[in-house]
Amino acid sequence: MIIEKNRVVSIDYTLTDDKNNVLDSTSGQEPLDYLHGFGNIIPGLENALEGKSQGEHFTVHIPAADAYGERNDQMIAEISIENFKGVDEVKPGMQFHTQGPEGIRLITVTSVEGDMVTIDGNHPLAGVNLNFDGAITAIREASEEELLHGHVHGDDHGDHCGCGDACGCEGEGCDDEGCGCGDACGEGCSH
Ligand code: ZN
Repeated sequence: MIIEKNRVVSIDYTLTDDKNNVLDSTSGQEPLDYLHGFGNIIPGLENALEGKSQGEHFTVHIPAADAYGERNDQMIAEISIENFKGVDEVKPGMQFHTQGPEGIRLITVTSVEGDMVTIDGNHPLAGVNLNFDGAITAIREASEEELLHGHVHGDDHGDHCGCGDACGCEGEGCDDEGCGCGDACGEGCSH
């Protein structure tokens, strides 16, 4: 079986930047399962895996533009600390999620000066070229439910899927509060 749309693929990989810093790895963990052809992983990697078969090794260099995008200075803003009511201490490195027109976005606080807080909505890996080194451990046909939801379901990710709009999930139990996968679905979910 080869990797093509509507199949669930399991990969082991190590992700490094161009300076060989390890950014992420499945080493010592379960392989990553994803539904191929649904944009659940970055496009550069998905394209590179297309057509490969089980057991095949891959090394893929993905320029930032095909990974998490180039950094965009317009995503950086200065806002008043008033916006952080209820937060004990606002400090650089803090991250939070906001719901915007394009879905849920991760925002990072980059500096705090007096009452002004600088926030950066760029993905932490924006502007970073990615190098994936790994192997394809399994390929299987997706279930009908997975195809309907547009993402892979693990053993404990059944019809109680609480994935909201963030996942593109339209299954039973969806709420519109954003992605509830962490609670409802456990590991099998790609979010
Ligand atoms: Zn689902």
